[in-house]
This record gives sequence, C-alpha cells and structure tokens, in this order.
Amino acid sequence: MPRHILVSGASIAGNAAALALARAGFTVTVVERAPAFRDGGQNVDIRDVGREVLRRLDLEQAALHAGTGEEGTAWVDADGGTVAEIMTDDVEGDGPTAELEILRGDLARLLYDAARDRAGYRFDDRIAGLDDDGDGVDVTFDSGARARYDLVVVAEGVGSQTRERLFPGENDPRWLDMTLAYFTIPRTADDDRRWRWYHASEGRSIHLRPDRHGTTRAMLSLQKAPEGEQDWGEARQKRWLHARFADAGWEAGRVLAGMDDADDFYFEVLRQVQLPRWHTGRVVLTGDAAWCVTPLGGIGATLAVTGAYVLAGELALHASPQDALAAYEAAMRPMVAKGQGVPKIAPRLMNPHSRPGVALLHGALKLATTPTARSVTAKLSNSTLDAPDLSRYDTGSRAG
Ligand SMILES: Cc1cc2nc3c(=O)[nH]c(=O)nc-3n(C[C@H](O)[C@H](O)[C@H](O)COP(=O)(O)OP(=O)(O)OC[C@H]3O[C@@H](n4cnc5c(N)ncnc54)[C@H](O)[C@@H]3O)c2cc1C
Repeated sequence: MPRHILVSGASIAGNAAALALARAGFTVTVVERAPAFRDGGQNVDIRDVGREVLRRLDLEQAALHAGTGEEGTAWVDADGGTVAEIMTDDVEGDGPTAELEILRGDLARLLYDAARDRAGYRFDDRIAGLDDDGDGVDVTFDSGARARYDLVVVAEGVGSQTRERLFPGENDPRWLDMTLAYFTIPRTADDDRRWRWYHASEGRSIHLRPDRHGTTRAMLSLQKAPEGEQDWGEARQKRWLHARFADAGWEAGRVLAGMDDADDFYFEVLRQVQLPRWHTGRVVLTGDAAWCVTPLGGIGATLAVTGAYVLAGELALHASPQDALAAYEAAMRPMVAKGQGVPKIAPRLMNPHSRPGVALLHGALKLATTPTARSVTAKLSNSTLDAPDLSRYDTGSRAG
C-alpha cells in the first residue's frame, strides 16, 4: 500500500483527497500552482452522495452553515416579474436549488482548513516532470525541488497540464456550445434569496444568486459554438460580453457595470473531459482533471468530493495500488457517465434564440412548476446519480 502521496491541485478535489487520504493514514503533500490558497468562485452544490461524503469527513454541518442561503430558483421576465419558481422547501430533497448550496471558495476553504493540519502544502509550485519506475514516482517541481512518492494524485481541474503530459492525445473533449462568465457584483435591495434566471433571446441568460458575504453572484451565459474565446485575455472577453449583452434587458446594465469592477471574473467555454482511463502506473486523475462534467452536469463538486473519498477508500482497502486504482475507476465510472450524459441539444433548448422560443420555454416552466408538477420537476433536476456504495469504506470513521 502506498504511504507517501503527492496531490497536485488544492481546490475541491485536491483538498478533499488530501483530507480523506490523511484520515486514512497516508502521508500527504499537496502542491498548488497558486501562490496561496485560492478563494473565489461562485455557487456549487453538493447533492446526495456528496452530502454523505461531507458527513463522513465531519464537514456536513459546517458546509450547511457556510451555505449561500439560496432558498429556491425563479425564472423572471424583463421586468423582474416571476414567471415560474421552485422553492426548495416546497419539494422533497433537492430541487434546482439544492439544500446544500455553497460558494466554491467557501467549500474549498472548509476542506483546506480541515486538511492543512494533516497534510503538507507547497504553494506557488507545480509538477515539472514525473518519472514512474513502477515502485514509485520521482517528481521534479518547477522550483527545482525533487521528491519521491508512492503515488501521485492529479486534481488540477479541467485544464490539467499533468494530464496532458501523461495522457497525450487521450482526452477527447466534448464541447457543449455554451460559454459562461461568473463574477461578484454589489448587492441591491431587490436581490432576494432566490436564484433569479432571466432568459433574453439569442441564447443569452443572466443569473443572479445570493451569497452570505453581502454581495451578489452574477453569471452570464451564452449558447453558441465556441470560437476560441477561452484563449482570449480577460479584457477582450469582457468587451465581447458587453457587445453581446448590452441589449439583453432586465439587469444587464447593472451586471455589465459590475463585471467591469469585479476582481474575480471567471470565464469558461464548457468542455467535458473524456478519457478512456484515469490512471497510468502510479499516477491517477481525479475531479475535473479526470472527468469534468461542466456545470451543465450539475454535479461537478459532488463528483469531486466523492471521487476523492472513494480513491482514499480504495487505496486503504487494497495492498496493490493497481488494484486500488482499478477499483476506484470501476466505482466512479457509472456516476461520471450519468453526469456527462447531458444531451448536446440541452443548452440550446434551455437557452432559446428567438422571443417566441423564450415564451414557449416560460410556458413549459409554468406548467412544470405548478404544485402538482414541481416535485416531479425537482426529481428530474436531481435524478439518480448511480453513486458508488460508500459503505465499503471507513476512511471517515478512522479520523484521528
Ligand atoms: C478559482 C476557481 C473558480 C471557480 N468558479 C467556479 C464557479 O463559479 N462555478 C462552477 O461551477 N465551478 C467553478 N470552478 C470549478 C469547480 O471548482 C470545479 O468544477 C469542481 O468543483 C471540481 O473541482 P476540482 O478541484 O476538480 O477542479 P478546480 O476547482 O478547477 O481546481 C483545480 C486546482 O488545481 C490547481 N492547478 C491547476 N493546474 C495546476 C498545476 N499544474 N499544478 C498545481 N496546481 C494546479 C488550480 O489552481 C486549482 O486550485 C472554479 C474553479 C476555480 C479554480
């Protein structure tokens, strides 16, 4: 069984892996390219098995406490009137707004705070080279430091460089014809505790969501085929969003002005990571680096904590790393497949391009959110996850 494990990346998956591995008795070092722990990011939700993982890591209550306080989802018209809504209290379990909505940075912080006493952290550095001789991995870092590990866990997110180095040509990304920009804007008196979702025509949507930090989390989304926008600089991306959203209506003016002043602008053209395997020798991928399902899958953070926990659990159960990594992959594949199963047409259906299309969608949402239909709608937005069986693992209860 490997003893000293290097985790690369200190966000949701990396910190969760560090915590679960340390609790299972491994010696863990985490390397993160950012100069310090990275706050920031918008709403992520933790559903179903992800809640169970947090419970097992003794973090569920803290996560609920740190949640955004979002109480439901409302689709609004250009005047801000509610077209349809689903309040989480009105449905059993999670709806489009889950019971556990939390900011990415707040969840990462909880995991980091719990892990940092048990694992070593090396910020402002990254893996420069790996030499896996079958018994261990010699790692060279950008800083020039070198160390040998029994196993390397890559949790570097969707754009992982280490993945590209180790699995060249194997990632066949699936582009989802959808661009998102997230940032934080000042809160106004009209911002309530609902996720307010406005559909303009031409595939555009504006989202405003509450947080517990006295600000409002904004998201602009645009349904279109990608044309390299992810490679542009931030200034050009913002200019492009201005041009696209200037006449979108509702709160577009306020949101665009807030975007110009935001210091946490995050822009992504959605792409799924699709790989035939997640491990090679003694290096294994987890989180978005392995299987990014994109926010359209709705379970990216849930998968990140679950994958980390399952990986630690399998490594604790198996003497051979190869058996453990094969078992980890077998346990996680069905849930990942489910999360990635978003039909290519879904972004287009949910983001109409014509005004009649928006009216049609609003009509469908009204029907879907009537008291009799809303539980079914909530269940559809929260369909079964084909989650792994956590009862195999006791990494949570072995806490030291
Ligand atoms: C700053 C930030 C903001 C985000 N905001 C949102 C959001 O608003 N909404 C949303 O749905 N998702 C957001 N995400 C993505 C979301 O966190 C993930 O989809 C999901 O939680 C899975 O997390 P992950 O840990 O696998 O990947 P990520 O959260 O992407 O984390 C990857 C980590 O690895 C680090 N890293 C990358 N390359 C290297 C390297 N070569 N060496 C060392 N470290 C490396 C990164 O700095 C980062 O800390 C954000 C991610 C980040 C990093």
